[in-house]
Amino acid sequence: MLKQIKGLHHVTSLARDANENNAFFTRTLGLRRIKKTVNFDAPDVYHLYYADETGTPGTVMTYFPFPNAARGRPGAGEVGTTAFAVPPGALPFWEERLAAHGATGLARAELFGEKRLSFAGPDGDGFALVETYDDARAPWTGNGVGEDVAIRGFHSVSMRLADDGATAELLRFMNHEEVDSAGAVRRFAIAGADNGAGIVDIETLPSAGHARQGAGSVHHVAFAVEDRGRQLEVRKALMETGYQVTPVIDRDYFFAIYFRTPGGVLFEVSTNEPGFDRDEDTAHLGEALKLPRQHEHLRPFLEQHLEPIRD
Ligand code: ZN
Repeated sequence: MLKQIKGLHHVTSLARDANENNAFFTRTLGLRRIKKTVNFDAPDVYHLYYADETGTPGTVMTYFPFPNAARGRPGAGEVGTTAFAVPPGALPFWEERLAAHGATGLARAELFGEKRLSFAGPDGDGFALVETYDDARAPWTGNGVGEDVAIRGFHSVSMRLADDGATAELLRFMNHEEVDSAGAVRRFAIAGADNGAGIVDIETLPSAGHARQGAGSVHHVAFAVEDRGRQLEVRKALMETGYQVTPVIDRDYFFAIYFRTPGGVLFEVSTNEPGFDRDEDTAHLGEALKLPRQHEHLRPFLEQHLEPIRD
């Protein structure tokens, strides 16, 4: 079992409009934009990161906004819901705030004894806020959302799968235990996850059509390991189990490996090192356009081409 895996690291999704996306995550949800960079594999597209003050793994929601991208079609084989943790009693505040900011799909529910508020992101993204007890994570409160209600980081991701068997086995191999089930949903969790974001739900939908990725879809979900040494151990173990894992890729703020899971969801395993302050002071995270060294020569073009983000 891969004890090196410590919880979620980040979730990366697709969007249509960079400014709409930025406004939603900062001015509506109250997260901090901690990095403004580009998609390293398609540098004419932004890569925007929203998180707590410093980009602590387990709090980091990231987006590739592709202008004019078609909306995704929800279905099996994807992360259907990304859930954020909020303090007990925070949901009435959020219900009112999200409605006032024009969010759609608002619905209250209870799952595994926790109160949750579902809502849709700007491109129909599936989100939920979950009231969570004893979450010690310090929130970012710089956008008019007080500490008593602010998002602490991820609570969980929920995958929609046609068949959960092989993915459940993979999650167990990746340090999760099955802790509960309710109807079609099975809950897996890392006992005492280091970063407070250790839950993965699987919803089995045998008759659902396959998801089509587009704006509003999750592109991949990343799990955290402390450092590169542990990442190599995880990579070796996954490959010995039969997974096709990419080589280690330097993403400037973490090192990443990727592999496709049996249910169709793309997983990444990322290091907590070196972190988002490697090229900006904590006080100014997310302000300047940061480019990886291999794309620095494109800066004049990108500064012309990329639509400026209005803060
Ligand atoms: Zn990633």
